[in-house]
Amino acid sequence: MAGIVVVFDFDKTIIDLDSDNWVVDELGATDLFNQLLPTMPWNSVMDKMMKELHAQGKTIADIEEVLKRAPIIPRVVPAIKEAHALGCDLRVVSDANIFYIETILKHLGIMECFSEINSNPGYVDEEGKLRIQPYHDFHTSSHGCSLCPPNMCKGLIIERIQASLAMEGKKRMIYLGDGAGDFCPILKLKKEDFVMPRKDFPVWKLINENRELVKAEIHGWKDGEEYEHILLQIIKTITMEENQLLSVDCKFQTIPIEALPKAVPVPY
Ligand SMILES: [Mg+2]
Ligand SMILES: [Zn+2]
Repeated sequence: MAGIVVVFDFDKTIIDLDSDNWVVDELGATDLFNQLLPTMPWNSVMDKMMKELHAQGKTIADIEEVLKRAPIIPRVVPAIKEAHALGCDLRVVSDANIFYIETILKHLGIMECFSEINSNPGYVDEEGKLRIQPYHDFHTSSHGCSLCPPNMCKGLIIERIQASLAMEGKKRMIYLGDGAGDFCPILKLKKEDFVMPRKDFPVWKLINENRELVKAEIHGWKDGEEYEHILLQIIKTITMEENQLLSVDCKFQTIPIEALPKAVPVPY
């Protein structure tokens, strides 16, 4: 059963906070971060913050240590493991960065559950400094989407995934997210898809104000228990629907009655 693709945002959808803020706050650089934020795009601020932390003597090991103790939304790790065990194709689409996401997913032991991580490049340079680059190089061209930040349009990533899925045959998507940046990709979902927005977070408000624009079926969640329950329920529902379709297909091949196993009488 590989007919379902589950796309997860990362910050506040897998971990229970924003990874950029967490690292900056835990390493004591909040004031500088707040000063820089009005002057350049968020993604560029993060690259600058990593340079600054390196200059202050903070190491990659310090950053990893902070990442590894980031709080995770309860029940999300078991939900991810179960969705993977049920044969779903899991992917991350996040405006954090590859370094943070891989560090945390490996630490949680769920890195292998994902077939793809789409995020801003993050790598350690030759000086041992973490560099964070934009997913979309906005210095050379614009991605052209007015809903999204200059470094990443998640909607374009979803369209690319949809195009590749179309080549593999019919697939259905479940999208989970919390932020304003998740609204654009949600608009790309089709009516047979599902969206699981985090209740009372920015994407929830955007969806509720623009219901007519969302074609996918909406299932909000407020905590990890609901998240796990709803996600697994949707997967089971899709699987049952697909199995029913399969059995309908089978009926077209006429099976002679004699070939079917006879009902065995129950002895009293
Ligand atoms: Mg998020
Ligand atoms: Zn967009």
